[in-house]
Formats: sequence, C-alpha cells, structure tokens
Amino acid sequence: MATQLAWFRNDLRLADHAALIAAAARGPVAALFVLDDETPGAWRVGAAQRWWLHHSLARLGRSIAEGGGRLILRRGRAGPIVRAVAAELGADVHALLHHEPWAAVQVAEAGAVIPHLGVTLAPPESVLSGTGGRYRIFTPWWKKLLEQMPPPRPRPVPDLRWADVGSIASDDLSQWGLLPTAPDWSGGFSQWQPGEAGAAARLADFARRAARYETARNLPSVEGTSRLSPHLALGEVSPNTAWHVIADAVGETVAEPYLRELGWRDFAANIIDQFPDHGDAPNREAFNRFPFIDDPVGLTAWQHGQTGYPIVDAGMRQLWTTGWMHNRVRMITASFLVKHQLIDWRHGERWFWDCLVDADYGSNAQGWQWVMGSGVDSSPFNRIFAPVGQSAKFDAAAYIRRWVPELAQLPDDAIHAPWEAGVALIRAGVKLGRDYPQPIVNHEAARARALAAWAQVKNA
Ligand SMILES: Cc1cc2nc3c(=O)[nH]c(=O)nc-3n(C[C@H](O)[C@H](O)[C@H](O)COP(=O)(O)OP(=O)(O)OC[C@H]3O[C@@H](n4cnc5c(N)ncnc54)[C@H](O)[C@@H]3O)c2cc1C
Repeated sequence: MATQLAWFRNDLRLADHAALIAAAARGPVAALFVLDDETPGAWRVGAAQRWWLHHSLARLGRSIAEGGGRLILRRGRAGPIVRAVAAELGADVHALLHHEPWAAVQVAEAGAVIPHLGVTLAPPESVLSGTGGRYRIFTPWWKKLLEQMPPPRPRPVPDLRWADVGSIASDDLSQWGLLPTAPDWSGGFSQWQPGEAGAAARLADFARRAARYETARNLPSVEGTSRLSPHLALGEVSPNTAWHVIADAVGETVAEPYLRELGWRDFAANIIDQFPDHGDAPNREAFNRFPFIDDPVGLTAWQHGQTGYPIVDAGMRQLWTTGWMHNRVRMITASFLVKHQLIDWRHGERWFWDCLVDADYGSNAQGWQWVMGSGVDSSPFNRIFAPVGQSAKFDAAAYIRRWVPELAQLPDDAIHAPWEAGVALIRAGVKLGRDYPQPIVNHEAARARALAAWAQVKNA
C-alpha cells in the first residue's frame, strides 16, 4: 500500500482529524508540518502564537513518536516542500481545508492534495440562502447553519501504522527559534497548556462551568468563558468536539449561547472565504477615506496599557502578559483605539495578531472591522463605547486591580475613572501623572471628534 502523507497545518491534533483518518485507511502514514513564513506574507505566525506553536508541535511530535512514527518538520514555502516530500515518499497527500487566503495558495502549489473537512462546523460554501447566495450577516447565516447542526460527532484517533520516514530530512524544532529569548516575555504564558491533551483538559474544565456561561461570559473579573480559543486556533481540538462535549454536558438549550459563539468563528471563515483581504481592506468603501490620525505616541500608550483609562490599560496588559484578552475587553480596547484615538484599526489588528496566542486571521479581522463599523456585519460607527460606563456595567473592578495594581487600593466605585476619584485617590496614595497616567483623551471631546470625522466621510 502506498504511503499516505498527512500534512498538518493549524490542525495539530490526532483525534477527529479527517485527513489523518482518510490517510490511515489507505496505508502507512507519514506526518509533515511546514513552518511557512513566506506564503502568508505579513500574516506569518505572530510572536505569541509562535510560542504556542513550538509547544504544540513538540507535543504532537511526542504523541506521534509514542506510536512509533516521526513528525517531519520543514521550514520554507509550504507548497513546493509538500510536493517534494510527497514525491520522495511516493505518497498521496491529505490535508484539511483552511480558509485563509494563503492556505489555498499553499494547496495549489503543493500539487495533488486530497482535501478534507474539519476546520469549521460546516464548510462556508455550504451555508446558502434560498436563492443560492452567500450570507454576509450573522443572524440569518446562523439560522441557516443551524439547519445543518449538530455537526457530525467527533471521531477518535484512527488505528495508525506510521510509515518509515527515517530517510526523510527533518528540522530540529528547537532550531526554529519560535520561543522568545532575550527578553523572554513568556513568563505569564505558564497558565496555558498547548497541545491536544491541554485542549481536552480545558474543554473538560469548561464543561463543568458551561451552565454559567450566559451569565458570566461578559464579566472580565470572572473566568466565565472557555478560554479554548488558542486551542481552536491551532486546531488542537475540533469545533465539532467542542460543540458535542458542551451540548452533552449541559443540553443544547443551555449550551446555545456558547454554541453561537462557536458559530461566530465559523462566520469569520465564511467572511474571509468571500473577502480574502478582510484583514487589510475595509468592506465599506467610505472607510478608505476615514481621516485616521498618525499618532505613534498614542499607539504606544495603548499598546503598553498607559492610556489612563483603567479598563483599557487592564486589557492591554492582560494581552501582553498572557497572550489573551477577554472578549468584552477586546471590544472596549479596540473601540478606544479607533474611536477615542482615531488610530487606524489595522495598527490595532496587527498588534493583536502579534500578541494573541489565539490569533486567527478571520476572527481578528472580523473583530476589528466590527468595532470600526467598516465590516459587512458590524456595529455602526456612531455607536461609541464609553470606557468608564462599560467598565462599571461589566463590573471590572477586580479585573482592573489584577492588571493595574497601581490602582488596587481604590474602592470599586472610584476605580473605573480615577481622575474623578477625588479624596479616594488621596487615601489610596495615588497621584495621577506620577503613579498612573492622566487620561490621554477626554471622553466627551474624543467622542465628538470621532463623530465629526465620521460625518465628514459619510457625507463626502
Ligand atoms: C477586536 C477583536 C479581535 C479578536 N481577535 C480574535 C482572534 O484573533 N482569534 C480569536 O479566536 N478570536 C478573536 N476575537 C473573538 C473573541 O474575542 C475570542 O474568540 C474570545 O475572546 C476567545 O475567548 P474564549 O475562548 O474564552 O471564548 P468563548 O466565549 O468561550 O467562545 C467560544 C469560542 O467561540 C469562538 N469565538 C467566540 N467569540 C468569537 C468572535 N467574536 N469571533 C470569532 N470567534 C469567536 C472562539 O473560538 C472561542 O473559543 C476577537 C474579538 C475582537 C473584538
């Protein structure tokens, strides 16, 4: 039987992996991962996700070695490398279909790849309106997707006979330099356990908390969400598995708010499948004329969590330290950058890309274009989040204390807007401008400026 090459990309798992299952059914299996910094161009894997990738590949390699195989590692342009390795092995190539624009280029260049499904709950092109058109708005798309749900039940790791790949050259993972060296900023990443076993453990933990998801998911001070996003982004668990484990744990009705969020992940794939340049170009043409401000100092203050708005600074510091940020706070920080600071959303999107362990081209672009108001399905530009109001409404005091320790002594009612805290600030021994920044913009003035900028574009 001919050797079958399973080409892993952001699907670093052995269970519920249709390409691996198909390969295993047809012959001895060789496994390959290519670190491709070339085909994605500017969207090559960012720094935080490189840390994750290193550990995830190490674990996948160990799992394969335990079964007597070897994960072949290569670095360079994926298509030609896959083609060459397949030729050397005389193998058929199996891979899951991914939806990033560069993923299709990789497959086209790799030659005869046998494609399989499993990256999303359903293939984007399968969710069509009555007239056969593609959806661009979430709610009708979700209703239509539900007609295909639940997704197929996850399949276990197949019986694998690993091919002898002793003669095939492979890189040494430690030589790829995926981990930070000097300085090593990954100390705060220790909460994560990359890899398939870590994903399964986190999913099992979330299954015990999933009944409280709806009430807790918007509160950054509590661990109310699954924190499964980096595992899903690297494909260490399939979305089908997440769907069924949570639906089985709490029932489909209680699970619905969580399943709907999984749906947003699929929806992002649906959008980049239709708009491959979603990460670079606004969907709404008017936003090409938006008068963004070139403000490197303001951008640095935002990136480093030094804006003087505690909820914004808490989020940006959580991101830097842990590689992850709570969804509600992603919306607040993103809105602050584009509407209070009038800085181009693509600067924020790039920073997130580099800092997030869950960086996902579609979800990130969708998040930023939603906040900016420039996406096909997005929040209207004139809906401007008030950072202080959001912070109080979603009870972020404990979250702020955790990430902005300078303000830890302030009482709950004062911590969201320290510049208004008066005597509480004195009691806490905090001096603005010395211990913590003065707000870099005034909310009302910034809001008025943003609306004026929008009016200029909208009416042009
Ligand atoms: C500006 C901005 C940028 C974002 N960038 C990314 C990104 O690069 N990668 C990423 O995975 N998510 C991104 N998101 C979406 C969302 O913030 C994260 O998916 C979520 O916070 C992950 O935490 P969780 O796993 O605990 O989510 P849960 O609440 O447990 O949600 C379950 C799963 O659904 C998916 N999901 C949830 N919300 C969304 C959403 N709005 N869009 C797409 N998928 C979603 C994730 O895979 C998540 O693991 C972004 C949101 C915004 C506003």
